[in-house]
Amino acid sequence: MKPADREEFFARLKAVMPEPQTELEYASPFELLVAVILSAQATDVGVNKATSRLFPAASTPQAILALGEEGLKDYIRAIGLFNAKARNIIETCRLLVERHGSEVPRDRAALEALPGVGRKTANVVLNTAFGEPTIAVDTHIFRVANRTGLAPGKTPLQVEQKLLRVVPAACRKDAHHWLILHGRYTCKARKPACPECIVRDLCSFKSKTPV
Ligand code: SF4
Repeated sequence: MKPADREEFFARLKAVMPEPQTELEYASPFELLVAVILSAQATDVGVNKATSRLFPAASTPQAILALGEEGLKDYIRAIGLFNAKARNIIETCRLLVERHGSEVPRDRAALEALPGVGRKTANVVLNTAFGEPTIAVDTHIFRVANRTGLAPGKTPLQVEQKLLRVVPAACRKDAHHWLILHGRYTCKARKPACPECIVRDLCSFKSKTPV
């Protein structure tokens, strides 16, 4: 995709989504971190349902430690991989208390040292809780970047690095949410809504759904 087309691509997404937000519900960087850990291979709707019960009962590392692993499981049992996620969240809470004064660190290496936190989760937290211009490449962004020709790549890391190079600087902070929401609701995996897509003429996907 040519630089002028990339500018136009993001200008159009911005026009329809001036202030894109995550669909995960949270009220602090810690709540966001827990929600993102829970969201691996789960829907935001399912995570929000669980955290709408969990956070009023426990919304700090100490409070979740006080619940204990079994107590935490009672709130997240409906979410896939809940056993492993409960274990990771408890261990993460312990490290936050011991090493970070119970705060979520604004630092990639420190975040990635927490159990259950990989590069993608660290990128989401840095971007959404702290406003850093990071781009977490999930399945939606990977698909949109490849189909459109915006930032083709074989792995999420390749796509992330390419996006960081080609996304116009002014769009980098919000690119993450624009691309996720575009992938989730328009450029869907099975049947992309190409006829209604606002970037159809800029997109180089060869198998666009016909009008
Ligand atoms: S035209 Fe189709 S394939 Fe291209 S971005 Fe839009 S929905 Fe996705």
